[in-house]
Amino acid sequence: MFPFVSLSLSLSLALCLFIPRFSLRTYREHGNPMAAQNLADNGDFHAPSPIAADGDARSALIFLGTGCSSAIPNAMCLIQPSHPPCSVCSQALSIPPEQNPNYRCNTSLLIDYCRSDGNHSYVLIDVGKTFREQVLRWFTRYNIPQVDSIVLTHEHADAVLGLDDIRAVQPYSATNSIDPTPIYVTEYAMQSLAVKFPYLVQKKMKEGQEVRRVAQLDWRIIEESYEKPFVASGIKFVPLPVMHGEDYICLGFLFGEKSRVAYISDVSRFIPSTENVISKGGDGQLDLLILDTLYKNGSHNTHFCLPQTLDAVKRICPKQALLIGMTHEFDHHKDNKYLMEWSRREGIPVQLAHDGLRIPIHL
Ligand SMILES: [Zn+2]
Ligand SMILES: [Zn+2]
Repeated sequence: MFPFVSLSLSLSLALCLFIPRFSLRTYREHGNPMAAQNLADNGDFHAPSPIAADGDARSALIFLGTGCSSAIPNAMCLIQPSHPPCSVCSQALSIPPEQNPNYRCNTSLLIDYCRSDGNHSYVLIDVGKTFREQVLRWFTRYNIPQVDSIVLTHEHADAVLGLDDIRAVQPYSATNSIDPTPIYVTEYAMQSLAVKFPYLVQKKMKEGQEVRRVAQLDWRIIEESYEKPFVASGIKFVPLPVMHGEDYICLGFLFGEKSRVAYISDVSRFIPSTENVISKGGDGQLDLLILDTLYKNGSHNTHFCLPQTLDAVKRICPKQALLIGMTHEFDHHKDNKYLMEWSRREGIPVQLAHDGLRIPIHL
């Protein structure tokens, strides 16, 4: 169970995206005035929120990371500053990360799932290069004691290179005698991970090999097909294959029974059958679409940029959308103001997510 303060702060963080003229006092009372000031800049856009706003949702989505592969601040902007310096990355020098919505780690979502018996399970989507930092910052903030299942979208560095640190969120055993954490991956990703992390995949010790403490993982192969759902820690996931570059398939995931949520972190083109599964005009309207956007203009060979992201949001027509995967081109408050105007015009609330955003939700 979460302490009341954590839950109500989180609820406020979530609500502030869409509720008019929320009170700064709420945040002062909860000890995060900088975040309040930052988020107040979002203005007064109001839209009916399908996400649980009644405070009785015991499940939640926690955005552990909302940035691109290099993460933000981009190190180059700080060690070889341009003239004038990059304003988004420079903020990292003066504002603590937990109060800076322009501080973005690799994309990752933690699903805090409250089961019918009241116990919580924690499902982690992706374990990127910045995983340790995300654990230190947000697991402590939201009292997350462990990870019960891991789901991987693909095997790129920004989705998997934190796997070594999974041992930090597992029970301690010097002899590795613990229950392994289920990890759901495609066959293709598994083969790549066996090369990147042979010691995490190895089943048996070699003769003469000494025991070294490493993450204990129970590898489970999933299919790149929306017709092959799987269940992780009690949550049903429908794989959503999408093109991430024309030579590569990445998975997004559809989950949630009471609220339908789609998480798609790496996409350059939708496969029509996948788009149909999550579209209002297809299998049904999403309550929340979480979608990739890399740059503000133009296009990119392996990711959506804002024009393609907003086109996709219009076609898919979810009740609301949150964007992730942003580079330092995006300035959180400034660009959320633009997105509010877009949302008013198009009738679909869309905002940039930020690291640490926690949304209570009925799953
Ligand atoms: Zn920068
Ligand atoms: Zn990728």
